[in-house]
Amino acid sequence: MAKKIVIVGAGVAGVNAATKLVDNGFPGKNITIVDMGNDPYNRKPEEVMTGFLGAGGWSDGKLTYHTAIGGQLSKYVGEEKAMKLMDEVITNFKRFHPKPEEVQCSNPVEEPEFIKPYFGLRLFPVWHVGTDYLHEIGKNWYDYLVSKDVNFIWNERVFRVDFESNLVNLTVNGKEGERALEYDQLIFAVGKSGIDFVQEIQDEYQLETEHKSVQIGVRFEAPQKHFQDLIDISYDFKLYRKFEDKGVSLRSFCTNNNAAYVAVEETYGDITYNGHAKKDSKYRNDMTNFGILMEINGIKNPFEWSRNIVSKLQYSKKGLYYSPTRKPSTTSEGNEMGVHQINTLKEVSNIMGEYWDYIVDFITDMKTVFPTLRNDWGIYIPEVKYLSPEPLVYHSDLALIDYPDVHFVGDALSARGITVSGAQGILAVEKLISKECPWDNIQGDIINWR
Ligand SMILES: Cc1cc2nc3c(=O)[nH]c(=O)nc-3n(C[C@H](O)[C@H](O)[C@H](O)COP(=O)(O)OP(=O)(O)OC[C@H]3O[C@@H](n4cnc5c(N)ncnc54)[C@H](O)[C@@H]3O)c2cc1C
Repeated sequence: MAKKIVIVGAGVAGVNAATKLVDNGFPGKNITIVDMGNDPYNRKPEEVMTGFLGAGGWSDGKLTYHTAIGGQLSKYVGEEKAMKLMDEVITNFKRFHPKPEEVQCSNPVEEPEFIKPYFGLRLFPVWHVGTDYLHEIGKNWYDYLVSKDVNFIWNERVFRVDFESNLVNLTVNGKEGERALEYDQLIFAVGKSGIDFVQEIQDEYQLETEHKSVQIGVRFEAPQKHFQDLIDISYDFKLYRKFEDKGVSLRSFCTNNNAAYVAVEETYGDITYNGHAKKDSKYRNDMTNFGILMEINGIKNPFEWSRNIVSKLQYSKKGLYYSPTRKPSTTSEGNEMGVHQINTLKEVSNIMGEYWDYIVDFITDMKTVFPTLRNDWGIYIPEVKYLSPEPLVYHSDLALIDYPDVHFVGDALSARGITVSGAQGILAVEKLISKECPWDNIQGDIINWR
């Protein structure tokens, strides 16, 4: 008899896992997906992090196609298999796209001369979907899973997982109650919005983990015309620089163009920033935004350190905006951004300490490389990627070493983007549909385990 699979989180990872299963004949009625957000028909634009397709559903839909970007995949399965898994994710997005022919791939090949003296430029292929199409993809994808009898529970939060008795406890009408789901296999795919829950579980079960680096910075925004020469070469360009001796590297991250909007994220009650872009020409604002993110190694408790810095960079439940000349932009719906404008960066510099200088130098050098930029830019402070410590998992199916029925996937494990999260979701369930691996004898193996 087919086993019961519970997926916590209807994000990119959870949805790709369920799709892989039903595509391969696994009975949908044995799969239950719980999400604390809304289904794609009821999800509102301000629900950035939760609901069908998770943070990916309201993102810019840039599907990166390289193992060096978007978190860890090849370390588990090697390069070739990693690319195959990413192909499957991209195929899924095209398959449910109302106009798949509009998904464009930008594949730049050469670093332009004008960049070279100041920045490295990482060039890799990206498939670009666009936020507005993602909504339609979400609906088609959801309808497909429902047609395959997959059970969905919306607007309820999983607040406990009992690894010993294979039970998932979830809220009932928003209240922590008695409802529990039993599982044979659990796919834990709570993404960034569930990162505090990941931490709770790691503490409760004292899971062995690997610490991650700090990833913090700002969301930079400017009129697109200043960056057009580079955008023509690479839609999602990645400028980078590394200070090996200091354990610090910087990169521009997740570039949005044409109809580009800064997005407000809320994690742990603090406001941070991200960005997305729409495809529909009615949203066109000819702006560009991207993160300038520092990766800082060697900080003892990176997670607590980042949280502390982010909590200080708040003013009256808002993040900060600084520009020498500009005002904050509006959201794509024309509403005011949740941000507090500051006139000086002195306090930010005090809070970020020596690390702030790296950001200032990055912006200064961009002004040289893109000479029309001058003071025509603004920054939303802070942008952060909370990388919770990564639990140790079997590399073949991302199951926890001590609890092989529980698979961690997506941003809850080590991903940092749509393609890798989706690929991890697929990887986690592949063994469950493999003919060589009988249902009752699911065993992970450790490849290159630290
Ligand atoms: C504004 C924005 C733009 C982005 N743009 C891009 C981009 O262009 N390209 C890219 O590659 N990446 C982008 N990202 C990142 C990308 O969206 C994530 O890396 C990806 O969605 C992670 O997938 P996931 O399935 O692990 O988690 P998510 O997609 O975050 O899904 C997690 C799901 O779990 C649910 N959940 C969490 N906790 C619980 C709980 N306790 N109980 C029940 N449900 C729970 C949430 O409601 C959510 O739906 C963007 C992110 C944001 C916020």
